[in-house]
Amino acid sequence: MANETARNIGPVIVLGPPGAGKGTQAKRIVDRYGIPQISTGDLLRDNVGRGTKLGLEAKAIMARGELVPDELIYGIVSSRLREADCQRGFVLDGFPRTAAQARWLDATLEKEIFDKSQSDKSEKCPPIVIQLLVDYNQLLLRLTGRRSCPTCGRLYNIHFQPPLVDELCDVDGSKLLTRSDDREDVISERLAAYESQTKPVADYYRAQRRLVVVNADRTMDEIAAQIFGVIDRHGQDAGGGAAKLESAS
Ligand code: AMP
Repeated sequence: MANETARNIGPVIVLGPPGAGKGTQAKRIVDRYGIPQISTGDLLRDNVGRGTKLGLEAKAIMARGELVPDELIYGIVSSRLREADCQRGFVLDGFPRTAAQARWLDATLEKEIFDKSQSDKSEKCPPIVIQLLVDYNQLLLRLTGRRSCPTCGRLYNIHFQPPLVDELCDVDGSKLLTRSDDREDVISERLAAYESQTKPVADYYRAQRRLVVVNADRTMDEIAAQIFGVIDRHGQDAGGGAAKLESAS
């Protein structure tokens, strides 16, 4: 485990529809490997909360469940990737969401991040791309049931992981929040956006033999164990070579 928090992991990209558990699995990866999670949804919500210019531009778009324009997203992602804590690697959650974003990310990693941070390019780890596959009805339950504590950040699901007292946090008793875009009418828009725009991202990485498909209709622990196996094998295989296509059952 000590080794896991010292070695280079490189970029880890977690793909999957809203509600697939990207955020939860990204946090597991963060805890095990000691690399930061970069969630474009969280970065945007932070900007909305602070009322920044970007937040004001993104707020209405996010409330409709549509994708925020690329030029806004690229700015926040590239400045976050340049921060010192990203040097050993990072987990991207919610990005890239379109094939254009995937191409932009490849170009950015190649030209800007790696060239500046590592003189010996043969030591860089190629991105690991993990796609979480989930049944559609499971997704609806996960999204409509999702709640979070505004005080301690703990996540719940009223269907699968309910709090002890209805709608109150077990830890501090705060009233739990539902994200505004987890309303049923917005959810169908978000899933439609995923279908039309994000599937090409998986196709893009599959064509490059970089996609690892993980069945996410299982417990969070089982999914995490499988993802750790993929990352650990990738570390052993990397050594400057190309990533291999794997399909996890
Ligand atoms: P998420 O928390 O990942 O579900 O994202 C919440 C919302 O933020 C999405 O519905 C989009 O409006 C916006 N968003 C997050 N990531 C991106 C992205 N990579 N490209 C465009 N919009 C995004």
